This record gives sequence, C-alpha cells and structure tokens, in this order.
Amino acid sequence: MEPTPIQTPAAVPAQPAPRPRHGPCSACEHFRRGTSVTGATFAALLDPLKPKVNEAHSEKTKEEREGLDQYRPEVELRLQDQFDEWSRRPVGQIVYCGLHEFEGRFHITEVKNQDQRCDDFLPRQANPEPHACSTCVYNIAPLNEVLMTLDQTVGRTDRGRDLREKEIQPALNAQAEREYRDCVEGGGFLRSQPGLLPRCEVYSTASDELGLPRYVVGPVVNGGARCVAWERGVSPTRAQTSEELARLRDEARRTWEISEHPPPVRLAPGEVLEDVFGPAHSAAGNDEADIVEYCLTLLGLNADYVSSIGIRFMQSVWYRPRVVDDGSAAAASPAPTTAAGPGVGSAMAQPSQPFPLQPLVAYQHPTYHRVWFQVMVGENEVTIAVHVGAAEVHFNLAALPMRTWTQLRTTQGALPITILSDAPSGVYAAWY
Ligand code: SF4
Ligand code: SF4
Repeated sequence: MEPTPIQTPAAVPAQPAPRPRHGPCSACEHFRRGTSVTGATFAALLDPLKPKVNEAHSEKTKEEREGLDQYRPEVELRLQDQFDEWSRRPVGQIVYCGLHEFEGRFHITEVKNQDQRCDDFLPRQANPEPHACSTCVYNIAPLNEVLMTLDQTVGRTDRGRDLREKEIQPALNAQAEREYRDCVEGGGFLRSQPGLLPRCEVYSTASDELGLPRYVVGPVVNGGARCVAWERGVSPTRAQTSEELARLRDEARRTWEISEHPPPVRLAPGEVLEDVFGPAHSAAGNDEADIVEYCLTLLGLNADYVSSIGIRFMQSVWYRPRVVDDGSAAAASPAPTTAAGPGVGSAMAQPSQPFPLQPLVAYQHPTYHRVWFQVMVGENEVTIAVHVGAAEVHFNLAALPMRTWTQLRTTQGALPITILSDAPSGVYAAWY
C-alpha cells in the first residue's frame, strides 16, 4: 500500500487574515473629512458663468466659515441623545462617516462608533485609486460647446445680439445663481435638474423616498472621491449631445444657404414672391430657433421660457412665426412693425408686396433686410443706390435678367435699409 504523502507547510493554502470587525473610524473605508461645499459647487459650475455667481459665492462662503463653530456643540448634544446624524453636510475638515452620504445622511463618528462598537466598520484599503466624478462614466457634466453654439447662433446678427444681451444672458445668469444657491443649501442635492452643474446618473432619481425628484451634484457629494459606484470613463451623453448639436448646425447651415442664395425667379400667374421665398426663409429661421431652444433646454432653463425665447428669436431676428415640429405655428405672425415706401404714408404692410420705384425718391424699411428687384424695361442702364446701415452700395440693375425677380445679396446687413431711387419707371422692388 502506497504511503499517504505528508503535506508540507508550503502546500497548505494560506488562510486570509480575519477581517477586523471593529476599529477606529480613521481606519475605516467610510471615514470622510469635510470639504467646502461652496468651493466644490463653484468649481463644478460651467466656467463662463462663474463670474455671474461671484457675489452669491462670497456670501455663501462667509456663511459656511461662520457656521464651523456650530459643529462641536452639535456633537455634545448628539452624544447625550445618542442620535448619530449631523443636521447637515459637514464642511471644512469636520470628520464624518460617509456610509450613507449619497442619501444625504452624514453620521457623527463620535456617536456611531462610540467605543468602537460600530458594526459597519470596513477596513480601509491601502492607497486606493481615487474615485473622482471627473473620471467617472456616470458624471453628466455641462458642456461649454452648448454655450458656444448658442452664442454663435444668436450672435450672428445685431438683432440676435440684442436679444442675447437683454433676455438670454440675464436668464442664464439668474439660472446660474439659482443652481449655485440651491446646490450649496442642499449640500449637493437639488430638486430640479441642473443644467449648469454636473449631475450623477447613478444617484440622481426621479423619485426619492419622499416621492420627489432628487439630483445629485457628484463632485460636491463625492468630495472624498470614494464613491463605490465609480467607473472610469466618459459619459456617452457628451458624445450624443455633440452629435445632436452638429446635426442641428448642419441642418441650419443647409437651409440658410438655400434661403440666402435663392435663384432669380419668374413668377407664375397669381403667384407672389412670398410663395417662392417664404418657405425657405421660414425653414432657415426655424432651424436656427431649434438650435437656440435645444441649447437653452440643456442649460437648464424651463420649458415655457425656452419656447417663449424660440418665438421671440423668430420674431425679432427673422420676422417670421415660430413653427414647432408638428408644423403648427407656435405664435401668430408678428405684426409688421413699420411702414415703408415713399415718405411715411405709403404702407407696405406685407414684406412681399412689390412696389414700383419712382425716380429721386427714398424708400426705407427698418425691419426687413433683403431687397428683390424686377426690371420690366431695360434699354438704359439703371443704377440704384442701396444704403445698408451706414454703407451705400450701387447696383446696375440692367445686369439683371428682365422681368425676373432677383435678390440682391449684398443688401443683407444692418437695418434700416434704404433705396435711393433714380430709376426710370418699370423697376419694381420688394422687401424681405
Ligand atoms: S462610524 Fe462606523 S462605518 Fe462610519 S467610519 Fe466609523 S467605523 Fe466606519
Ligand atoms: S457620484 Fe459616483 S457614480 Fe456618480 S458621477 Fe461621481 S463617481 Fe460617478
């Protein structure tokens, strides 16, 4: 019979050392040191809007500093009643237990782990990899690209810039301050979805234990960078947003080209210029309004405000109604704001109504910025001076195809636009 081999010590599998079940908080995975909520919120805000919250940031930082004295007395009180939760998120180096920090509960270590009796003790890893939100796939951060696209779209014309200065920028400033204050006061938890601060896809929920939405600003709540849900990567939302912005910009560029460079047109009987030109003009404007609305929505502005800006953008930049996706107008056509024609009295209520040019008469339209001409008799050279804002441009209309409506491209620009006519009869113009 074969002798039973004797196991050498090397062949015996090593037994892992038993995990300590209790210990000091400083040796526990859940141990945290407070960080400045105001500082983390400010740092997380979309960069171009930081200067807009400077005042609120100074005020809240001062409050945060002044509140530091209240933590010690709270520990004394809680030791007496043995309730182990802070009344708010600890800041500025105050230590706490982060076991339930993503639920907005912060334990007082002196109470929860009194005499090292805490059963939630988990030995701390040596040199753990930081689990920061900035490197996490679940961090949905606001994009500068959105703000830049909005800026470029509304900033393309003087009228758009005016809308931006007077309405859009103040609304964004107010939004930045609101999000900043809500985030600081909520310790990184918000009740409405932020657009200018990042949010965590894992811990944000449409319905918390109170049945209310709760949005978690990761870099504030996860100040210790020890989040267990962390996963290295970049949120796919970033690429999806960039793709959608690129799609909207391409579409707007395409329809703008069509609208800007219409071919000369000979109208069929009963047809008016608006029939030919209007749909392209409207499509180009509405495609830009789509970009404006998409950006404002991503930046966290509420739906009613966003659609009101879409309508205002169309009215003040394109003088056309906003047409929403189902093809219906979001607002009635804007009333024509001015009259034009010889002197003040000659009404030109509709932009597409052609009017005959009389020699030595000035025609002005402060609203529409495109001019179409039609030359009915072309034996002589016909020169027209068109003022676009301060600039004066001369056109030889004899170069235009006869009896055909042609848009003069270089007439687009600053308003008002004026035609100084020395045309013989037989030349018609129309504004857009
Ligand atoms: S209270 Fe318990 S779970 Fe929290 S840090 Fe201390 S030992 Fe860890
Ligand atoms: S809180 Fe955690 S899961 Fe959420 S973004 Fe930050 S690291 Fe990622």
